[in-house]
Order: sequence, then structure tokens, then C-alpha cells
Amino acid sequence: MELTDAVYRERVRRARNEMDERGVDALLLSNGADLPYLVGYQAMALERLTMLVLTADDAQLVIPAFEAARVTRRDDVFDVMSWTETEDPIGMVGRLLSERASACVGDTTWARFVIDLMRTRPDLDLRRSNEVMTPMRAVKDSAEVDALRAAAHAADVVAADLQTGRIPLIGRCEAEVSADLGRRLLEEGHDKVNFAIVASGPNAASPHHEPGTRVIQPGEVVLCDFGGTMNGYCSDITRCVHTGTIPGEFSELYAVLYEAQAAGVAASGAGGECQDVDRAARSVIDSAGFGEYFIHRTGHGIGMEAHEDPYMIEGNDDPLVAGHAFSVEPGIYVSGRWGARLEDIVVAASDGPDSLNEAEHDLMVVEA
Ligand code: ZN
Ligand code: ZN
Ligand code: ZN
Repeated sequence: MELTDAVYRERVRRARNEMDERGVDALLLSNGADLPYLVGYQAMALERLTMLVLTADDAQLVIPAFEAARVTRRDDVFDVMSWTETEDPIGMVGRLLSERASACVGDTTWARFVIDLMRTRPDLDLRRSNEVMTPMRAVKDSAEVDALRAAAHAADVVAADLQTGRIPLIGRCEAEVSADLGRRLLEEGHDKVNFAIVASGPNAASPHHEPGTRVIQPGEVVLCDFGGTMNGYCSDITRCVHTGTIPGEFSELYAVLYEAQAAGVAASGAGGECQDVDRAARSVIDSAGFGEYFIHRTGHGIGMEAHEDPYMIEGNDDPLVAGHAFSVEPGIYVSGRWGARLEDIVVAASDGPDSLNEAEHDLMVVEA
């Protein structure tokens, strides 16, 4: 997403506020989404160190010299400090931190960098960047919600292809269908495919099934969970279809799932707690007697990353606030037999839940 310097300037200002409030002297961001969120540059996830060193009065992007040309300069946000092949970048970071006592480190920073830094500065109090970055990143502004909505719409088009038989199923293996879903996500505007789970028949009982060589048969469930990144923001949708007449018992299971997912979405307005979403969906499944088959949390936050804060799970009593974007995806998995999941991305708003996905929620029969 192309943002103005003013947006990054404001984000850095807010990060410094959070640091100040939490008594953190420095923020160290390398691989992952925190860095591009804050200054608009994505580190290459390689063995050479790229790291933003942000303190109250300084911001230096430490970067391999030959990658410096990739950086969009924002002189009023950060400076670039490049290192040549024979220089020691950890030493550079150590010098920038000089007298600082504490630093928050990005979650996905390579362990090798963190361990080398600990050797250079054994007295430095290291903490996780989440405490500074999560409160900011979890609440999406309107441009971010627009980007999530556009990605959701693109995923909806692919879901409709699946539900209407435009992506044929019967007689093909899961991996082929998965490749089709990925290709269609790209055609609909995604820049990258993050995953495309296709789980047929008994495989649908495994929530993160790896699509493989199993050939899809007539008269079984096919669970598809797919998403990618479009303009910097992620999509993630799950729909199930049935390749022929639906057995009565599976219809009943799906009706419970449908009701549970709708209850989760209905509980997704701003004002409650994150765990309320999980409770709303789970209570429907529990009272229908399927409780033991719902084996994961109800949802995860989504944004620049496919899974990020906040998590919709029992025990998360963080307030659900306007701008939180997350999945609502209950599932029922009967091992060795069948399973189903139904997933939408929802944004909490002050006037209730804003469900971004609009693809059909019913279990569609696809005889193709
Ligand atoms: Zn998942
Ligand atoms: Zn999903
Ligand atoms: Zn998901």
C-alpha cells in the first residue's frame, strides 16, 4: 500500500509514545511486518542484517550497503546507515544503543542476530516488540480496512468459482484444485498466495491438511481454505462444498456450524472482549453436542500478516475495539470421517460487526 510520509511519521511518533509509556529505550525491527508498517520498508529475510534502531531521538535503518538502493527515503522519518560486506552490523547496532538499558525486539528477528546482540550487550534488557507494536497494528485505519475489504472481495470471487463448479473437483487430486485456487487468487489481483488448503472426504477432519494426491470422489465434502496478500493486506476464507447429495447427518453438522459462525460474527462488534467471539460460536457447537470436535480457537487477527493479534480465544479478555480485523472460523472435525469449517474476515465497528466476505455461506452441491 502506498502511504504518505505523514502516515509513517505519525506511526513512528505513536511508537515512541508507547515506548515512553512502557519505559523502553529502543525498538529493534528486522524481518517481518512491524518494520514495513512503521517506515514502509520490508527487510529481505536473509542472513545479512537489516534492522531499524528506533530511540526517542533517533531512527537509523541499518542495512547492507548494496540493498540501500531499495529503500524509499523518508528523511524526516529515518536515516539510512549502510554497512559494507566486511563491516560488523551487530557492532553498529550496539554502538547506536550505547547507553540504552532496554530494547524491544521484533518477534521474527533471526535468533542469530538476537544472540549476537546479547553477546555484544549482555546487560541490555530485551523484550518483545509486541508490547509496543500490537496496540498500534491491531487497530486498522480506514485505508487498511479498505485494503482488507478489496482482498476479501477478490477471495470471494474465487470462492464463487468453487461453489459454482467453475473449478472442477471430481476426479482431480487435491493438489491440482489447490493450484487452481492459487492461480485464481493471483488473477483476481493478489500479489502472492499464502496458502490454499484443499481437504477432501476424511481429510477435511484435519484443519491444516496439506493438499496432496488424494483424488476427489463424488458424494463427499471438500473443504477449501485459501488466502493471499493483495496490496500489502491479507485475505483468508474457508468454504466447504459437497460433490453430490449431502447425507442427512452431515447436513445437520453443517447447520450447527453455520449457526455457530453467524453467532461468532454477531458477537464481533466493538464493545465486548475478544473471548466473547469464541464463546458465542463455541456455545452453539457445545449445545448441539459437537463440542469435542471443535478443536481450535475461533479466530485470529489479520492485516499485513495472515495471522496476527488479536486472537479470538477463551482467556483473551482484551477489549474488542473498533478497527480490530480478524477471522471468525469455527470448525467441526470428526476424525477419520469428515469435517467442516466456515470462515469470514470481520472488522469490529462501533455500530456492530462489518463482515468483509460475502461469498455464499450455505453448503453448496458441486457435481463437477
Ligand atoms: Zn488455520
Ligand atoms: Zn483460513
Ligand atoms: Zn483463518
